[in-house]
Amino acid sequence: MSESASPETFGFQAEVRQLLHLMVHSLYSDREIFLRELISNASDAADRLRFEALANPDLVGDTELAVDIAIDRDAGTLTVSDNGIGMSREEIIEQLGTIAHSGTARYLENLTGDQQKDSQLIGQFGVGFYSAFIVADEVEVASRRADRPADDGVLWRSDGQGEYSLQAIAKADRGTTVKLRLKADASEFLEEARIRTLIRKYSDHISFPVRMSGAGASDGDGDSDEQTVNRAKALWTRPRTEVDDDEYVEFYRHIAHDFSDPLTWSHNRVEGTREYTSLLYIPSVAPFDLWNREAPKGVKLYVQRVFITDRATEFLPLYLRFVRGVVDCGDLSLNVSREMIQQDPAVGAMKSALTKRVLDLLGRLSKADADKYATFWEQFGTTLKEGLAEDSSNREKIAGLLRFNSTMSEDVAPDRSLDDYLGNAADDQESIYYLLADSPLAARSSPHLEAFRERGIEVLLLSDRIDEWAMQFLDEYKGKSFRDIGRGELDLDEGEEAGPVDAGEDKERKHLVKRIKRVLRERVDEVRVSTRLKESAACLVLNEHDIGHQMRELLKASGQQAPASLPNLEINPTHPLIGKLADEADDDRFALLSTVILDQAMLAEGRQLDDPAAYVRRVNDLLLATRGESLASTETGAS
Ligand code: ADP
Ligand code: MG
Repeated sequence: MSESASPETFGFQAEVRQLLHLMVHSLYSDREIFLRELISNASDAADRLRFEALANPDLVGDTELAVDIAIDRDAGTLTVSDNGIGMSREEIIEQLGTIAHSGTARYLENLTGDQQKDSQLIGQFGVGFYSAFIVADEVEVASRRADRPADDGVLWRSDGQGEYSLQAIAKADRGTTVKLRLKADASEFLEEARIRTLIRKYSDHISFPVRMSGAGASDGDGDSDEQTVNRAKALWTRPRTEVDDDEYVEFYRHIAHDFSDPLTWSHNRVEGTREYTSLLYIPSVAPFDLWNREAPKGVKLYVQRVFITDRATEFLPLYLRFVRGVVDCGDLSLNVSREMIQQDPAVGAMKSALTKRVLDLLGRLSKADADKYATFWEQFGTTLKEGLAEDSSNREKIAGLLRFNSTMSEDVAPDRSLDDYLGNAADDQESIYYLLADSPLAARSSPHLEAFRERGIEVLLLSDRIDEWAMQFLDEYKGKSFRDIGRGELDLDEGEEAGPVDAGEDKERKHLVKRIKRVLRERVDEVRVSTRLKESAACLVLNEHDIGHQMRELLKASGQQAPASLPNLEINPTHPLIGKLADEADDDRFALLSTVILDQAMLAEGRQLDDPAAYVRRVNDLLLATRGESLASTETGAS
């Protein structure tokens, strides 16, 4: 390579500067991973060249695709070169000067300055190219895109402090050479033996040869030929029994750009009418852009070991977008286009087979390792729930994987499955009962649970923001229907003798209900005597088909207006406050007390009152009205 025109200086995007700084500080103890990242990029570049060469075979020529690593002890440099796709000037500015991911700024806000936590987060974000600056005080990247002439190369240079320079160069070979001038305290990476060990440790599974020349290394054995250090065989093509867990984990890190360990994986080869190999992983940490349903980057598609795309969305449903891995098809055409993939009936069959495989993998994980499954649920439970709507053919399977808070568990983390629930229910219990609330805490203290507690019936407590929406799609599980206990009339004692209510009492209650309804008609649909309540005075109940609070919030967030509906007020006639209400002759006081009871029922649901100040005034009026009585009794007591 030779330099022409003089260098131009550019500033890094602010986010890059921040990331660089944090990375150098928080990943210091893991700094050897820089080599893995550079080799991983070189391998990706070779993959991409091979893909572009499908349409344009001249790009590759007959040179072997490989990664070469060289050490120059005298100069204190380590070089990683590839003959992959290379980068143009524009690409290098885009790729090595900015962070293209959307949501970066928000992600960076989560960094705390706590080394341990931040290294986790940075890992989640993908460590990548910038990790070179953990060990180098200067990095030079010389690159030439495979489809550009030899004089159209570019040299990028930076000390990682805030700026980089660019210069046009001539570069005879296509591809990219990354040269690190190692920091004084990183001279261990000038040891050939150390580098070989690292290549085997981190990059054994890379499909391309990673070579090192013995020359220049003082402890070399005199042989100066390039030697392939890694196994250079795509990991997924090896028999399962010959791959050990560490290798699977390293491979995961390479394809998922994730620093943490996967929770579990499934490696399979399917033979017969269609031939394909899949290696699918469940990550342990959600990527920072999991919410982004637009462009999930999960499964890499290879056709006969040639990389095609890393957005192979056709092979798994959207609700499994957290899965990472590789699918290698033996019998797809190499010239596949996106449209062809979508139309290929074999792809549809593979999608349903892979979906089942992932759901079964999760099922096995839930049985084998409760802690890992809890981690999975915490990270991806909400995403999996989308499957109830998206994938009706696997609804029962997905339902079996759900985890809930429940009146039978103490934990804040949801750990009850539907099978746990059924195992605990009486044989003649027809329904699976659940309650929607804003938080597990609000759910646990809800008045709706009182009748269930008394009868020892378990209720699932749902407080995820998509629960109300998702549960619409779940009609039954193993023959038992689902019942939202916050709506409709409740008849737990169906078939049993109803409690004795004499005719006079019944008439009184009807009168009371009418009287309350007259006062609250603007705010409630119906007032009725409750079968739900034991300790509380009143609660709110939705009509069977009304839209609940969570759905309203979801609709609001998406700019839609939910149709208006009023809740029902159920009262507990055995509660002293309701008794007092029934005895209240003064209409104003009756209205005041009724309104306060309704407001309190709202508060008990975790709702906000439209006019909290008015509520406070009403309660104060009531407190002051009773003050005379209490004071009087205190005085009597004192004398
Ligand atoms: P990631 O690999 O996760 O995309 P990196 O920080 O490792 O993130 O790399 C950023 C980008 O820089 C890559 O996506 C790629 O486009 C480009 N890049 C890095 N190294 C090379 C290389 N050796 N050849 C071609 N492009 C590269
Ligand atoms: Mg990378």
